[in-house]
Amino acid sequence: MTAVNPTQHRKAKALKPGSRRPAKELCSECGLCDTYYIHYVKEACAFINQQFDNLEVQSHGRVRNLENELELYFGVHQDMMAARKKEPIEGAQWTGIVSTIACEMLNSGKVEGVVCVQNSPSDRFQPMPVIARTPEEVLAARVNKPTLSPNLSILEQIEQSGMKRLLAIGVGCQIQALRAVEDKLGLEKLYILGTPCVDNVTREGLQKFLETTSKSPDTVVHYEFMQDFRIHFKHEDGSIEMVPFFGLNTKELKDVFAPSCMSCFDYVNGLADLVVGYMGAPFRWQWVVVRNDTGQEMLDLVKPQLDTQSVSSSGDRRQAVQQSIPAYDKGVTLPMWAAKLMGVVIERVGPKGLEYARFSIDSHFTRNYLYVKRNHPEKLDAHVPTFAKRIVSQYQLPKE
Ligand SMILES: Cc1cc2nc3c(=O)[nH]c(=O)nc-3n(C[C@H](O)[C@H](O)[C@H](O)COP(=O)(O)OP(=O)(O)OC[C@H]3O[C@@H](n4cnc5c(N)ncnc54)[C@H](O)[C@@H]3O)c2cc1C
Repeated sequence: MTAVNPTQHRKAKALKPGSRRPAKELCSECGLCDTYYIHYVKEACAFINQQFDNLEVQSHGRVRNLENELELYFGVHQDMMAARKKEPIEGAQWTGIVSTIACEMLNSGKVEGVVCVQNSPSDRFQPMPVIARTPEEVLAARVNKPTLSPNLSILEQIEQSGMKRLLAIGVGCQIQALRAVEDKLGLEKLYILGTPCVDNVTREGLQKFLETTSKSPDTVVHYEFMQDFRIHFKHEDGSIEMVPFFGLNTKELKDVFAPSCMSCFDYVNGLADLVVGYMGAPFRWQWVVVRNDTGQEMLDLVKPQLDTQSVSSSGDRRQAVQQSIPAYDKGVTLPMWAAKLMGVVIERVGPKGLEYARFSIDSHFTRNYLYVKRNHPEKLDAHVPTFAKRIVSQYQLPKE
């Protein structure tokens, strides 16, 4: 990549945010193209130039070992565990491990700022990326904004602020583009704390999802697709509404997820230094994946505040994944009584721990592989990373 001169920067900046979308309908609105770093988009955009192997080597010193099932699925890592905060942060998405790490990174002076996402004053789900400089500003960003968020739109502010040590929190598509321009940011040290991410939506898509799925869409404070195969909606009055996955109105919701998310194979945020999610952990625990020494350095800062346990795995996902492929394709929706019953049965005998995570990865990768094949056949071979091809090849896909 060639360096961009500052005059080019300023000229490019005059355009309105959101007006330039080189990835067209596959744009995940990561924010890169709202800045002068748009000059690098052809190399940096995860949906224009899939370069997982290069970026894994750049980030972790090696590519993932495809012969090791744990790495095939969860990426390069040196440690993995289930964890939760001894004293959870009120209002966090889970127990607040992400916000706690970010606060401690500032408190310890390891970084001068944290890229995170607050919400707009008028809408709790409208993302507003910021560079937080105090723990209070980090805490104001706690809880998921379950919408595409232009986190990288703050890239120009990094250079302007003169900051040299930064922590960025983000999901896979944002982190892929960030890694690709990392060496252009003038930083001495960049720490990356990632979360897994799947099935994200635009703000309008989120409204449709809430209205189709929740009994009280306007009072939802946050929600999560949980390991017990139900969506848990938390409402303003603290009540929890649970809807079984199998009761979702698949036909109505088929177009809700962003095309970028339907084409994404970086569910587990393979390029972050440290990943905090929930998918590989027992119910109500968070899942922590340490990818390299920088990730370990971040985790060490908060270890005394955490309860931890080893990850575990039980059940066999394969049949359920194979059956879900034609069911999703046909938009099958079960009546609510049957969906609830199925939810109860699968919770008792279904995949748990790491096997649940593999169930979710397999279901999404097969669905996304078919989506790219049908909608962007010319991109299929280059866009789908080798590890994802290997995962998909375990299943029989419908003959087209
Ligand atoms: C859109 C989305 C989808 C997810 N899907 C999964 C999943 O399928 N499986 C799984 O295991 N985990 C998933 N996660 C991660 C999980 O939901 C929790 O965010 C994670 O476990 C951290 O919880 P916490 O309590 O430690 O976070 P908190 O302390 O509440 O902090 C949340 C952090 O997320 C950041 N954030 C919020 N919204 C966004 C956004 N739209 N884009 C980028 N960053 C954001 C905020 O800046 C904040 O720092 C997802 C996260 C997001 C944002």
